Amino acid sequence: MTQETSDYKLCIIVGERSAERAPQNERTEMYIPATKDYIGALEKSGLTASDTKTKTLVELKEKSLEALTMYAALCGLASRTLDCEVHGVLCRFVNIPQSADSVPARDQSNPPEDILIVGSAPGVGMNFAQMLETENMVRIHNAKKVVLTGEFIANPSISGEEFLALVQNMMLIASIRQKPSASRYPSLHVSTTHDVADLTKIQQGDTSLLLDLEAIRKEGGKIRRSSRTDDRTELMSPVDLTMRQRVLMEAAEVNIEETLVKLHSYRNQDTGLWRCSRPQNHRNGDANPSSHVDDNKVRCYKCDLEPLDPLRLVMETLNISPDDAATWLLSTK
Ligand SMILES: [Zn+2]
Repeated sequence: MTQETSDYKLCIIVGERSAERAPQNERTEMYIPATKDYIGALEKSGLTASDTKTKTLVELKEKSLEALTMYAALCGLASRTLDCEVHGVLCRFVNIPQSADSVPARDQSNPPEDILIVGSAPGVGMNFAQMLETENMVRIHNAKKVVLTGEFIANPSISGEEFLALVQNMMLIASIRQKPSASRYPSLHVSTTHDVADLTKIQQGDTSLLLDLEAIRKEGGKIRRSSRTDDRTELMSPVDLTMRQRVLMEAAEVNIEETLVKLHSYRNQDTGLWRCSRPQNHRNGDANPSSHVDDNKVRCYKCDLEPLDPLRLVMETLNISPDDAATWLLSTK
């Protein structure tokens, strides 16, 4: 964490929680996993748009498409492009008001492109510096759709520097394409192979190789709208909501095995597996325990699509809200 990031009041860390992290003064930190189910993770986090009204930093600790997806969704929730930290570097969103307005946008000799591919890959070349050239800024601003190619192509183990470059490119495009009324994020070209023919397909409108960050941003925005109708959100101040998050986070960190015992589950001493806390879902009441505990999460292979932390486990087992589950977990230990 650099010195200049010290004035952020809320820091949302995307990635796995780490225990050895030094706490920052006067700053709320919350972890959110990088996952394909970004909507589920956002809803579970308890984070609301009110929370992000404060000076907010997103730290992309994990370097993955899922982390970038979560970032776009968080920006949608906050309804602005949040500053972020990647690989120890602070990336700020800058408004570039002069981008296209200084040049006639409806120049007949230069009609807006339907799909403009930028980034660095074989067959395309528009790097960060080139995007800042006036002519290219106009193209990027006016294009109906911008696709960013490069770092994630055939590159499953992306490095910190490469991920930083990708985020910087994405934020620059978002800055250039920003309209007074709306953000417009690029789509990301993702592929496991390095095939020049991909670019032709994309130009022809094939979206199968694209991750639409703008669509993800809008999905994040839907949570913002739906949370407005949430009574608790309406009645609580942002400070209280932060306290609520803390309670939810604390509840999610209760020991999973103690939680299982409290839910009348038990461990099979021979196999080390736990009886499902929802035996009614099993034909034989899970007589031969089959739930697996790992990393303070439990997963029943019949009931759960993914491992559940204590909070989720209690919500699913007792069929209660996150807040009620937290109360249940943190009382009468
Ligand atoms: Zn089960």
